[in-house]
Amino acid sequence: MKSSSGPADAEAVKVVVRCRPMNEQETANRHERVVDMDVDRGVVELRNVKAADSDPRKTFTFDAVYDWNSKQQELYDETFRPLIDSVLSGFNGTIFAYGQTGTGKTYTMEGIRDDPEQRGVIPNSFEHVFNYIARSSNQQFLIRASYLEIYQEEIRDLLGKDQKRRLELKERPDTGIYVKDLQQFVCKSVNEIQHVMTVGNQNRAVGSTNMNMHSSRSHAIFIITIECSTMDERGRGTIRVGKLNLVDLAGSERQSKTGTAGERLKEATKINLSLSALGNVISALVDGKSTHIPYRDSKLTRLLQDSLGGNSKTIMVANIGPASYNYDETITTLRYANRAK
Ligand code: ADP
Ligand code: MG
Repeated sequence: MKSSSGPADAEAVKVVVRCRPMNEQETANRHERVVDMDVDRGVVELRNVKAADSDPRKTFTFDAVYDWNSKQQELYDETFRPLIDSVLSGFNGTIFAYGQTGTGKTYTMEGIRDDPEQRGVIPNSFEHVFNYIARSSNQQFLIRASYLEIYQEEIRDLLGKDQKRRLELKERPDTGIYVKDLQQFVCKSVNEIQHVMTVGNQNRAVGSTNMNMHSSRSHAIFIITIECSTMDERGRGTIRVGKLNLVDLAGSERQSKTGTAGERLKEATKINLSLSALGNVISALVDGKSTHIPYRDSKLTRLLQDSLGGNSKTIMVANIGPASYNYDETITTLRYANRAK
């Protein structure tokens, strides 16, 4: 068994890039593809078709890159499975989907429910965890699920009775940061945890006049806590707790400041605040030399403080689109991701 005080290794933060296929409209309108990927070498190349310079190509290297042919199962087995395994052995882990709206964040996290081949990392992790439990012996597991949303730096419990209520982040010397009064549901099967997720998604949609707009402006965090108690030969018990945070981030697209006033402007500023704070935290962690990690700068980073850095594992999936009209957002996403690795 791994020591829970093992050193934070270079593998602690992984950044991968995923490019979705052209959609029907892009294909019909014969949009030019400006993204090339060398899957074997983990390289993304982006061409600027508008650039006048002689070499309009920019290349970036990541831990892995997944092109438009990539399958959900492939991402799971190569990239996500090791992180979920480490949560099962008592470490914390976080998976982020980052990127412009419409590039596949929700596809990567949730996927398409009714098609087993297109299920995303969240349902695949449910299967993984409960299969693991079914095969284990001499161990007792307790699985709990929570689901929350951060919108304009306010926390809402997607499983709470009162959907209007805003929850507070608190800190305790012994257990650290927690969300006061956040619901936790004990789940005993894949079906039960899937149901919890479905209820949360329904609550997320209720009250938003435009679900697409709402989901592009808020961060959704599904949290699975895995408690495992083991009895050794001498009858001594040990308890390990690992926490898995599955985060579908707000869209990273620049909120236009022109013609934006009042509520909208305030909202735009706050969305960018959490995403830029996250970028700063991850790059400070990756840098390794920083003595100060700016967790306190946003709700998102404070909430995830105990799951970013230290012994935790983090995977950032940067999602991009292939077409030329997305060039500006795509380069911004690749630069953000590049800073995080
Ligand atoms: P986001 O959550 O980033 O706004 P979505 O996950 O909703 O984006 O994806 C936008 C659309 O593209 C959806 O219809 C989704 O099913 C589709 N899509 C995204 N990524 C892929 C992919 N890798 N393969 C096939 N379809 C995808
Ligand atoms: Mg989405």
